[in-house]
Formats: sequence, structure tokens, C-alpha cells
Amino acid sequence: MRKKILAANWKMNLLRNEAIELANQFSQYAQNHHVQIYAPFLYLSELVSDEDLAFGAQNFYFENSGAYTGEISLPQLASCGVKHVLIGHSERRQLFNETDELLKKKVDAAIANGFNIIFCCGEPREIREQNEHVQFVVSQLKNSLFHIPSSRWKQVALAYEPIWAIGTGLTATSEQAEDMHASIRQSIKVEIGEEVAESISILYGGSCNENNAKELFSCDNVDGGLIGGASLKNEAFKVIFQALYDLH
Ligand code: PEP
Repeated sequence: MRKKILAANWKMNLLRNEAIELANQFSQYAQNHHVQIYAPFLYLSELVSDEDLAFGAQNFYFENSGAYTGEISLPQLASCGVKHVLIGHSERRQLFNETDELLKKKVDAAIANGFNIIFCCGEPREIREQNEHVQFVVSQLKNSLFHIPSSRWKQVALAYEPIWAIGTGLTATSEQAEDMHASIRQSIKVEIGEEVAESISILYGGSCNENNAKELFSCDNVDGGLIGGASLKNEAFKVIFQALYDLH
């Protein structure tokens, strides 16, 4: 059975008290499930993870320590109880010029430091219009992720996030999501092996909300969601949570 994961990406939103209040609201129902909240760095030492609700970092630098003014390392995160990180989010790729090569270094550092990662991939609109989206996404995975040995894939989950759907209100249809997730799983089967392909969780992200979550999560190859805007409102996130875990 693949793990169903629900991850909230709060991005650069919420003031301290708002973040703590929202985290408390999530913790009232997010028990016995795999819920992760990617919160701003500053709040991470106050938001204590437990078995069911884990707080993760949206970013980090790949070196463990040194003269890198303004950066945060994985050992520093670990010393605050953080064990989860996002890698390859399209906003980091596009706004902060994170290349496949840099992402490969981040993957290696996170795996070596024992972190769990959600590796994000996804195509821009023009690539989908040219019908090259599968090839594009698989090459993102080949360039930054597929080199890690099969024994370390337990630390990895994937998020397919079409860039044209992030924060735009446009969502992939369930057919588009299922097609891409199945293609990603097939490429893992070919490159890494069947066991990893069958056990890895592949989340969907991109304007997933309380109205479309149930349909997206009903796809065979969609194992959860990475939620941006709708994770900033408890009512919406709770409905998405219930949709994923079939709770009403
Ligand atoms: C995201 O940024 O990971 C995301 C999925 O955002 P949104 O849900 O707002 O599209």
C-alpha cells in the first residue's frame, strides 16, 4: 500500500500567530495520517512535529555549514527537529534560478543527512501545448533525482505540479493528472525498479482545493496533494484532508 500524503506549502504567507493558530487547527484532526506542513523557516523551531503532523522546510542550502550568509543548512534544521524538506518547487526554479544541477546537490545533501524529501516537477504551459510534457518532467527527474540508489528511495516522495496550474486557479483535469502520474511511475519502474515504482507516493499540486480534491484523489496514481493557497484556510484544508483519507 502506498502512503497517502497531504502536504501544505505555506510559502511566504502567515504571520507568527496566524501560523501557530492554523497549525493548532490542523493538529485537531490530522491524527493517524501523513500530514506535512512546509512552514516559513522562522516558525519551525516553535512548531513541533509528531508522528502524524510534521513540519518541514521549504528550502535549505546544500552545504552543512560555513560562510554562506543568509542560508540555512540541513544540520541546523535537524537541530530544530525538522526532518522534511521540499526540493525543486517551480517558484524556486523560476524566481531563484535553481537549476537541475543545483537540485541534484540538494537531493544528495538531503538524502545524506537522512531527510525525507518531496521532489517537485512540472512543465510550463508552452511545453504542454507542444505535447512534450511527459518528456520534460521525466528529464527533470533524470537530471536531479534518478541517480540516488534504490535503497534511499524510502526518503523520497514526488509532487507533480504543472506550472500553469500553480496559484492560477487552473487545475489539471483528473485525466491529465493520472496520465502524468502513471508516466512518472513507469519511468521510475524502468530507471530504478518495480518495487520503488510501486511504493513511491506521487502527489498532485496546482490549485488543488476543496472543490476538486476528491476527483483528483480518486485517480489510481495520485497518492496525495501538495496544497498552496487552499492550505492557508483551515476549512478548505480540512475538506481536502477528508477527501484524501475518505473521512466525512
Ligand atoms: C504549490 O505552490 O505547491 C501549490 C500547489 O500552490 P497552489 O495550490 O496555490 O496552486
